[in-house]
Amino acid sequence: MSSRVVTFHYVLKDKAGKVLDSSQGHEPMTYLEGSGQIIPGLEEALKTAKTGDKQNVHVKAAEAYGEHDKSLMFDVPRTQFPPTEKIEVGMKFRAGSPDEPSPVFTVTSITEQNVSVDGNHPLAGQDLFFDVEVTDVRDATLDEVKHGHAHGPGGHHHH
Ligand code: ZN
Repeated sequence: MSSRVVTFHYVLKDKAGKVLDSSQGHEPMTYLEGSGQIIPGLEEALKTAKTGDKQNVHVKAAEAYGEHDKSLMFDVPRTQFPPTEKIEVGMKFRAGSPDEPSPVFTVTSITEQNVSVDGNHPLAGQDLFFDVEVTDVRDATLDEVKHGHAHGPGGHHHH
C-alpha cells in the first residue's frame, strides 16, 4: 500500500482548553505518512481520515512530545559556555555533535555560577487536544516517498 499525503487544519489545545497553536490564518499542515512529520499519536488518529473529515483527537503525552523527563533538567557551570556569549533565559541550543542528534535545551534560569537548562520539549508531559479538519488526502508522489516528506502548500518547499 502506498503512503498518503494528508493536509489538515488544526487547533491545538491543552487540557484546560487553552489554545496553544493553530493553523487558522496560515497554510494547513501537510505530512507524508510514516515520515515522522507530525507527532505519532495524531498520525495514528488520522490513519483512516478522508477529505472533509472533522475529528477531535486526544493525544496522550507519551504519544505527543513524550513524558516530562527530569534527567533532562540540570545546571551547567557558567564556565562551560564561551565567555563572550551572552546567555539569556529562553535561549535555545543543541548540545552534542552534529551527527549525534540531541534534544534542544532551553535556558530556564541563570545565576552567577550556573546556567539551568531544560531539554524537554515545551509540551512534554502534556496531553494534547486537536480539533482537526482534513482538507486533502492524496497518494504520495514518488519524489515525496524518495525525499521522505510532503511537497506543496504546507509541506516542504525546495529552493
Ligand atoms: Zn523534497
